[in-house]
Amino acid sequence: MTWDTIVVGGGPAGSAAAALLARGGWRTLIIDRAHFPRRKPCAECINPAGVAALRRLGVLDRVMDAGPARLDGWRIVSDAGPSFLGRFSGGVHGIALPRETLDAILLDHARDAGAQVRTGIKVTDLPRDEDGRVRGVIAGGEEIAGRIVIGADGLRSIILRRLGLLARAPRLRKLALTAHVRGLPDMRGCGQMRARGRRCVGIAEVGGGLANVTVVVPGEQAHEVGGHADAYFDAALRECGFADAQRVDDVLATGPFDCPVRGAVADGALLVGDAAGYYDPFTGQGIYRALRGAELAAETVGAALRAGDTSAAALMPYERARRRAFGPGERLQHVVEAFVSRPRLLGWAARRLDRRPQLGDAIIHATGDVRPVRSLLRPSLIAQIIV
Ligand SMILES: Cc1cc2nc3c(=O)[nH]c(=O)nc-3n(C[C@H](O)[C@H](O)[C@H](O)COP(=O)(O)OP(=O)(O)OC[C@H]3O[C@@H](n4cnc5c(N)ncnc54)[C@H](O)[C@@H]3O)c2cc1C
Repeated sequence: MTWDTIVVGGGPAGSAAAALLARGGWRTLIIDRAHFPRRKPCAECINPAGVAALRRLGVLDRVMDAGPARLDGWRIVSDAGPSFLGRFSGGVHGIALPRETLDAILLDHARDAGAQVRTGIKVTDLPRDEDGRVRGVIAGGEEIAGRIVIGADGLRSIILRRLGLLARAPRLRKLALTAHVRGLPDMRGCGQMRARGRRCVGIAEVGGGLANVTVVVPGEQAHEVGGHADAYFDAALRECGFADAQRVDDVLATGPFDCPVRGAVADGALLVGDAAGYYDPFTGQGIYRALRGAELAAETVGAALRAGDTSAAALMPYERARRRAFGPGERLQHVVEAFVSRPRLLGWAARRLDRRPQLGDAIIHATGDVRPVRSLLRPSLIAQIIV
């Protein structure tokens, strides 16, 4: 049989896209190389816009039943000492829960919506027609036919590479070490980002008495981790002053932190989530973009299938919608990275933002995708930056 859509990857992007397409009546298959529930290196915070996307998808109640922690804002602590707190307001907040739980819920939701799910099978290639159009996937050594392939296979996407859409090799060479920890002090509903030199430690409660701790090591220090990720992580915890904290699982390591793409559509295929381009996850927008990107993709894919035209030209509305939706946020991420990678600049900014809470809140709302990035350009805020 020929599937209407084959979704490669059952993370947030793939599961959300598959749920929406299956609900629209399209024969949808998800293939993931992992067996669920599975862990995924991530700081596990969903920003307020991500929470709203889960509500639109009809899965928020199930996620809330899993007991996530509530996230009311972020405290950024610079190496030099100064820190600032940015808080969400207006009745919005984020949540945090283990990806093991979140992703399994999302995959079940796609299954319940009518998608078929095959796990433990790796997609290795994209067969093509004579005219170059993708006509399905090779998975577990077999060809599976599909009218449109959705590449939702994450940071090291094979679909992105097979489509030839990778713009260049990664440059933002950082290593992230992440694990769950018990016994941290009460975080009072806020996540923390602590800079130490160019290293950064993110801490967020994820429910059930656990916290996610993610240590981001700059590329030039990555050799210090060597093959001893657990020991390096535990030492970083102690340096943060968490002598009573206990790590409850193995440390997961991942990197690099950028994956620039030339585009997100091709004849018979498109990319969504991290596979469609990726830059430093510091601002915690990845899950929102995976879910929102899935909504945009499902709209265009549904229209293309109805029209019987799955060419790159027919899928271009998705590419344009992505640029409009995520372009400003990506530019803001580059600005944030410029501060995070320069400890003195971060210290200067933290001191200023501590004295101007309105400005800190505005930044948190923009990175939380609650307000558009252009809201930071309000004259009253610019005056606070300058004066
Ligand atoms: C250190 C770190 C911290 C982060 N913290 C946050 C945060 O706090 N908040 C936030 O919003 N975002 C965060 N992110 C980003 C976030 O994790 C991603 O943006 C998000 O997971 C993207 O979802 P996705 O569905 O595109 O990909 P993924 O969640 O990576 O899912 C991809 C799926 O594809 C499957 N797959 C891969 N290759 C194949 C193949 N060949 N065949 C079949 N299946 C395949 C994988 O098994 C996986 O299940 C962080 C990222 C990192 C690295």
